Amino acid sequence: MAYKLNRKIRELEPYEPISGLYKIRLDANECPFNYPPELVEQIQKTVKKIDFNRYPDPLATELVNSFSEYYGVDPECVTAGNGSDELIFLIETAFLEKGDKMLVAEPDFSMYRFYSSICETVCESFVKNDGLNIDVDKLIKRVNDNNIKLVIFSNPCNPTGQGITADEARRLVSSVNALVILDEAYMDFWNQSLINEVEKYSNLIVFRTASKSIGSAALRLGFAVSNKVISRAVKAVKSPYNVNSISQAIGNIIYKNKEYLLNRQKAIVRNKEKLYNDLTKLAESCNDFKVYNSCANFVFVKTSLGRDLWEYLKSNSIVIRYMGEYIRITAGTEEENAEVIRYIKKFLSR
Ligand code: PMP
Repeated sequence: MAYKLNRKIRELEPYEPISGLYKIRLDANECPFNYPPELVEQIQKTVKKIDFNRYPDPLATELVNSFSEYYGVDPECVTAGNGSDELIFLIETAFLEKGDKMLVAEPDFSMYRFYSSICETVCESFVKNDGLNIDVDKLIKRVNDNNIKLVIFSNPCNPTGQGITADEARRLVSSVNALVILDEAYMDFWNQSLINEVEKYSNLIVFRTASKSIGSAALRLGFAVSNKVISRAVKAVKSPYNVNSISQAIGNIIYKNKEYLLNRQKAIVRNKEKLYNDLTKLAESCNDFKVYNSCANFVFVKTSLGRDLWEYLKSNSIVIRYMGEYIRITAGTEEENAEVIRYIKKFLSR
């Protein structure tokens, strides 16, 4: 007998998002638009020049520079990762010790807790208020009274779409005796970021991703932004060649198209507003359908009909995210949103 899977991993299943081909995909909060042909051509030309026999730049220097230019931050404060998923795992593992306590808010992005179970920290839950948001004063007290070493949450939150303001985030970071990770994966759709203030704090890391508003989920690019001391430590603990040369080269081009990206983000926000308004209208004729307004690119709905609605939409080649008593619908193109609304209306009137 050589090796038996340990207790931590014995029961785990590989992550399996919905597979198969669907006409409309509104389940993963991706950007609904691909890049225009001119940009794709520029990308193709750049990829042709890559030395495939060489390792990538360990610090992803050019990519980090164009990301930093885009957000107006110092490149020394930025570390690139293989998606922010990698950075969540890395920082939870390296910045905490076995048995240290970390705090996640509920409901929130499930990977924070999942990685904690792998790196053997103690993961406690902070329950959000009735509006599905964080009560910052309660959170501060909880952290300081319970020897919490790390607080991590998404702002705005996936899946709820709610967020705390920049003032509340500042108050939290300056009042707690813990490292705070603000996962701003969806902050390009809102305006309450602390990304330009990281150097003021000894205990703040802001995460960004290219997978949502930037529209590069395929590349797997995430970024940790913090003061220079933390940033050096993140660079020191990451694996050396964590971001491949192709993603570095393409990401470097993408972030240089700021005006184009900002216009596209505005279109996504408009589509989300329309989706929210249309869902709210449908909710008027159904008591069991509570729609939450959202600071991100999706809309969250509380309903006991979620499972049936999810099945019904899937059988019509539309996928959304089903989460027990809630569903989450990503804002797609105008046409995709009109189609999903048409089917939900049909479903609710049955
Ligand atoms: N944080 C949040 C809040 C997310 O919703 C997601 C993706 N669903 C991620 C991080 C992971 O992003 P990435 O694609 O950069 O790994």
